[in-house]
Amino acid sequence: MAEKHFKVIIAGGGIAGLGLANMLEMAGIDWVLLESHNEIAPQVGASIGLFPNGLRILDQIGVYEAIRATWGYHPMSNTNRDAKGRVICFSPAMGDRLEERHGYPFIFIDRRSLLEILFDNLKHKDRVHLRKKVANVDMGEHGVQVTTADGETFEGDILVGADGVHSRVREEMWRIGEQIQPGVFLKDRESLVSCRYKCVFGISEMSEGLDSNEFVCGDGHSYLICPGPGKRTYWFLFVNTGNGLVRKDQIPRYTKEEEASLVQKHLRDPISGRHTFGDLYESRLYSTLTPLVEHVFKRWHFGRIMLLGDSAHKHNPIAGQGGMSALESGAAFVNELQSLLKRNNPRTISNKEYDSMLTRTQRRFETRVKGLVKAANDQQRLLANDHPMSGLVPGFLGTFGGLEYDLRHLKKRVVGAISLRDFPPPKRPRLVPFTDELPARPIRKMWMLKWLSIMVTGYILFCSRELYNLSALWSSFDDVVGWGLQQTNVSVLMDQIRSTVMPTYSHLNPEHDLNKTVAFIETALILISLVAIWTIEGSRLGHQRSIIRWPIMFWVALKMKGLGWTTSLYFIFHMAFGSQTIIGRPVPSPAVKAANLALFIIYLVATALMVVPNFKEQSVRISSDFLQSIPVYTGVLTALISALSSQFTRTEGLEHSQSTSKRGVSDKSAVVGIPNRDVVYLNRLYILLYVSLGTIHLGTVIFAAVQLKEYFSGILQSSGLPFLGSMPDTSEGAYSQLIWDLAFASASLFIFLLHTVWNLRGTGCILTLHAFKVTAMVLVGQIIAGPGATYAALWHWRENLLSGLSEQYY
Ligand SMILES: Cc1cc2nc3c(=O)[nH]c(=O)nc-3n(C[C@H](O)[C@H](O)[C@H](O)COP(=O)(O)OP(=O)(O)OC[C@H]3O[C@@H](n4cnc5c(N)ncnc54)[C@H](O)[C@@H]3O)c2cc1C
Repeated sequence: MAEKHFKVIIAGGGIAGLGLANMLEMAGIDWVLLESHNEIAPQVGASIGLFPNGLRILDQIGVYEAIRATWGYHPMSNTNRDAKGRVICFSPAMGDRLEERHGYPFIFIDRRSLLEILFDNLKHKDRVHLRKKVANVDMGEHGVQVTTADGETFEGDILVGADGVHSRVREEMWRIGEQIQPGVFLKDRESLVSCRYKCVFGISEMSEGLDSNEFVCGDGHSYLICPGPGKRTYWFLFVNTGNGLVRKDQIPRYTKEEEASLVQKHLRDPISGRHTFGDLYESRLYSTLTPLVEHVFKRWHFGRIMLLGDSAHKHNPIAGQGGMSALESGAAFVNELQSLLKRNNPRTISNKEYDSMLTRTQRRFETRVKGLVKAANDQQRLLANDHPMSGLVPGFLGTFGGLEYDLRHLKKRVVGAISLRDFPPPKRPRLVPFTDELPARPIRKMWMLKWLSIMVTGYILFCSRELYNLSALWSSFDDVVGWGLQQTNVSVLMDQIRSTVMPTYSHLNPEHDLNKTVAFIETALILISLVAIWTIEGSRLGHQRSIIRWPIMFWVALKMKGLGWTTSLYFIFHMAFGSQTIIGRPVPSPAVKAANLALFIIYLVATALMVVPNFKEQSVRISSDFLQSIPVYTGVLTALISALSSQFTRTEGLEHSQSTSKRGVSDKSAVVGIPNRDVVYLNRLYILLYVSLGTIHLGTVIFAAVQLKEYFSGILQSSGLPFLGSMPDTSEGAYSQLIWDLAFASASLFIFLLHTVWNLRGTGCILTLHAFKVTAMVLVGQIIAGPGATYAALWHWRENLLSGLSEQYY
């Protein structure tokens, strides 16, 4: 490749600089690194937390195993405490769970160890020059020249400023930029940086009773305590400075006396169940007081100069993302540089082309890093009681916090990470792919589709509101109260149940009218599909805290307001709050088995009703009653079987790890293990549904085609638009109601299915072409197999798609 002809000068040998040197070496690009310090890994008492987003890059460059070996192993739980040291919530084995989901755990080691590992991994250690402090930069048409404080000069094609928060390269870039293009850096030069917090951090040799990451809330301050290798404990006391934004030349530098005086005020703060901050500070090996600068500069590059790491973006360290971002920005740079060098001869690339390559690098990472910086700032303010919502933190975490909350929170930081495009990392088992491993790039504006779908479904809901009213239900209740429990006659009993629980269809008598029977069958087909799938959705992990968890509420709505209204409402909820994530996908196997068994029993009973001689005479009537009540029967039976089976069997396929709230109640759960065993059972159910429902629908379509004229004229004569006027209270009116109800239900289901397909495209789970193909199949499926069977078929596809995405890394 471009080895001897093209060279990158790296200023700074921190995480950004040494990380970049490793990445360039992998890409076969020449580099030289200038570090002002006289040691590559000085001990300054700093530690570094490594998250899966950065660990993946470190794995790509081949240092992950060495980092893991340095770390050893810690189960890494998370504990949140209030200012009095009381547990708000606890997430056990958070590191293990993180590794299961994302392939890498959460690792805390000395910053110095990481630098040593990065340096040791370099093949060309001779390219690292210590005691070379960058002082001056010149940029010409054919390259950059760097002069160090001792007067030596270095020439290269691109200069990368990885020289930290007080970057000299940044100053030089601004100077050169202003000379060539006045005003280009005006905003950055004049911008103030946030210096709202300072931090006393250190390393102590004290591990007893400190085996969990402790986040301790305080008033104007907060703590983070993390166990490290051996007996080491890393700790951070974050304190509000009372300052907001400051000029760059006003960033304070603290003395040891200032550290001692600050620490003095906090010695008695409880930081765990057994220890005060004083205990930790007493056993310190190193400690430092430092200002915490936060910023993301507007422009990170000019001509042939690029800023990476803290020189461009600086985070509050509470979220442990500063070093990770330094690695990610390096990966973004190498990806773009490789593309440029593949397309061009380095000798002919102009400053303008370099500039646009560097613009792409910044664009690739800018939005993400801004989000990370803001999230870290929010987290810090929340914990230190500096945020308007801080008062709610203990209550919120006590109620919603815990392992699953922590994991979801971390997922947001992790999955969107940048990695080295041309160097796949070793295969590490994980459930959740990173975004750049998905088949397609996610689409940002997909929320528009979501709201459009919700609005259209909302309109259907509005149109269907007048189809049925509640008066029939209440009068039926009156009847049933008077009727009491004395009834023993089965047919009276059936009638009474019929008029009570089925006011919506109580006027419909499909006997001896084939057209009506067809309409009735179509309604039943959708209903069966909804019952089965909504029952499953109720148990889905991603719906644990959503209204979808309670399909029984929708069955009640169905009785009161009919199918169209209820499906519209359900799908609105599903589109707004439903889970489309890989982690939210699993359904505990016992729940699937229970639903399968319940549906099987219901089908068996329905069939028996049709063939057993005693019932045969009333078969249409009885089975129609039965079909209409399937939601209730299935819901009750599923719950019953589920409850019974959990008495006798251990949860299989999914295990739930409990976390404990401050009330000591185990009320949170998170998925652990490989959660895809449920797919086998789900597949059986979906296949049964779409084969059986599709076959029956096809039969009715053929029947309707044969009787086409009569069928449709019957509908048109009796229907009218129900939302423009009230329906006649006759059998014909009820028939028309049923037709419209069916149409509304089918329409809302159709929109929901399309939304599902395109939502999967939006999240990058499928390619655009794939989405078009499935859309076409949904359309054809509506006609050939019917809405109910298409719903089941699409769910079969979706279930396998999402589980397949997580399985590909096992
Ligand atoms: C208290 C604290 C805790 C943190 N915890 C975490 C964490 O858990 N996880 C995480 O990811 N991040 C963490 N960070 C952030 C992380 O340490 C930084 O974001 C990261 O080190 C940035 O790396 P860098 O290479 O850009 O800058 P630096 O690490 O600052 O490295 C800059 C290098 O450039 C050299 N240099 C400076 N000027 C010159 C010059 N003129 N010429 C040549 N060389 C020069 C310096 O000597 C230094 O070696 C923490 C930060 C702090 C303050």
